[in-house]
Amino acid sequence: MALRYCPRCMRTQEDPLQCTHCGYVSETYQAPVYALPIGTEVGPFTAGIVLGTSRQAICYAAMDTRTGKLVLLEELFPPAAVKREGKNVVQANPEARWADAVERFAGTEKTDRKAQPMAVLRENQTAYRVYEADLVEGQAPEDLAEALLDQPVRFRDEGGEPLFSINALPILPLPPETAFTGGTAATEKKPKRGGLIAALVIILLALAGIAAWKLGWFHAL
Ligand SMILES: [Zn+2]
Repeated sequence: MALRYCPRCMRTQEDPLQCTHCGYVSETYQAPVYALPIGTEVGPFTAGIVLGTSRQAICYAAMDTRTGKLVLLEELFPPAAVKREGKNVVQANPEARWADAVERFAGTEKTDRKAQPMAVLRENQTAYRVYEADLVEGQAPEDLAEALLDQPVRFRDEGGEPLFSINALPILPLPPETAFTGGTAATEKKPKRGGLIAALVIILLALAGIAAWKLGWFHAL
């Protein structure tokens, strides 16, 4: 008989109804309709349940079939820009630069994120970033996924400007006439500056008074 694995913690499971390790109950699991089904192979990784979603990606529990270990499999899937066709992710928003986004997400260049992926893959017409999932006692895999998804992958150009927004669409430069010029925040600073000047004048007057007193000018009056 083939071994069964829990699709949430990836440990062997004797009870088909409830995982004896993490308590996962398959009957209550509801995947987003656009998620890959449990058991889908992506490179050497086998997807389990969806641990979390963001505007940029879906994070699955997955097994590294080479080691049997639980990993986080992050699939680039911004629901505002794409849709699922079979296993493939295809562009649904005509303004999305999907091919660019996939290229960047699967790239090895540095992103804003602190954690480094153990693997990056390109499959199903999208890209995947795979992260180690070392759970400490009592920690839920969903917590790891949340921490990962809370830090969307933003790529920066050499000048430090972000190239991709939170939903993986590239941020296009604004035409000059609609570019942000500071708005009301800049004009609100003026009264504050006036207050600062007034305070400086008061301090200078006080210092001048002390100096005059020390020099004995007041005695002469
Ligand atoms: Zn489990």
